[in-house]
Amino acid sequence: MYKALLVDKPGDVYRCTLSELDEDNLPEGNVTVRVKWSTINYKDGLAITGKSPVVRKFPLVPGIDFAGVVEDSSHPDYKPGDRVVLNGWGVGETHSGGLAQKARVNGDWLIPMPPALTGRQAMAIGTAGYTAMLCVQALLRHGVKPADGEVLVTGASGGVGSVAIALLSQRGFRVVASTGKLDEAEYLKRLGAAEVVDRATLSAPGKPLARERWAAVVDAVGSHTLANACAATKYSGAVAACGLAQGMDFPASVAPFILRGITLYGIDSVMAPKPRRVAAWQALAAELDPAKLDAITHEITLADALSAAPDILAGKIRGRLVVNVNA
Ligand code: NDP
Repeated sequence: MYKALLVDKPGDVYRCTLSELDEDNLPEGNVTVRVKWSTINYKDGLAITGKSPVVRKFPLVPGIDFAGVVEDSSHPDYKPGDRVVLNGWGVGETHSGGLAQKARVNGDWLIPMPPALTGRQAMAIGTAGYTAMLCVQALLRHGVKPADGEVLVTGASGGVGSVAIALLSQRGFRVVASTGKLDEAEYLKRLGAAEVVDRATLSAPGKPLARERWAAVVDAVGSHTLANACAATKYSGAVAACGLAQGMDFPASVAPFILRGITLYGIDSVMAPKPRRVAAWQALAAELDPAKLDAITHEITLADALSAAPDILAGKIRGRLVVNVNA
């Protein structure tokens, strides 16, 4: 038997409960993992509460991430005892996921744990931090350099935002953090933000073009915030869009694209090809300051995850929630 959160929908009632499952509940797959750590991302908040149709198969264990140790494998790349990490691929959406003490997946979805990271650190990073790295790497491939100017990070106190600030400042960028939690300004500065701005300055409908300010942007928020970020991006600059905390809409004009030649990169972590994932995880292991990671991490239990889910959707969580599934 193993403990897991279980989402079910008997009749039309959507519910998520802490359950005891037996191995018959494990889904198909060629690698069984003893999960040690998982996490709550924004998408897990949606899955646990049912606020958006993230879970598309019932019953299902939520959790788009896990870190653990291989227990059993018929996949050529993995043997019992190997440390592994998983993000995405529909796990926690259409295939039972990481908010459990055990998981079974297709071994092609796994990544060997970078030796420099503990499982707890990997899940403190989680999909949010790995997505922040995908954003940073897209901007670096674009050729953005610290000398080009300031980088805006929106949704700054959230998971993607907190890790993006730490990574960009570590690389020498002057980071401007946009947040709705101005009382967290000191936290954001400790992570490496040079300046903190009120997100209200970005979240209302704006002009097609604004004064050129940002060399680049990491946007976790979407909607008017993304439109305003594009409108104020400097000539030839780049914006990495990964989130929709404000909204899924993009009420923008083509002006920044056709008059300033800016580039908008769409960042998807779920189906990202394996080489890009491995590169992102290697860079996270090499670059992310463990002290900063520790400062953004708050540890909870599987049972706590149920009450944390609405809080993350309400934007009340600072940084990252790591779940000790065995506590
Ligand atoms: P968090 O909830 O940790 O952070 C989101 C942050 O956005 C909040 O902390 C808050 O920061 C800000 N925010 C919340 N509500 C609003 C609002 N109404 N208007 C403006 N800002 C708001 O989530 P994550 O960091 O885990 O994820 C961020 C976004 O990225 C989510 O939309 C998520 O779905 C998406 N995502 C996408 C991925 C992909 O593959 N593309 C992968 C991972 C995440 P503050 O208070 O500082 O303003």
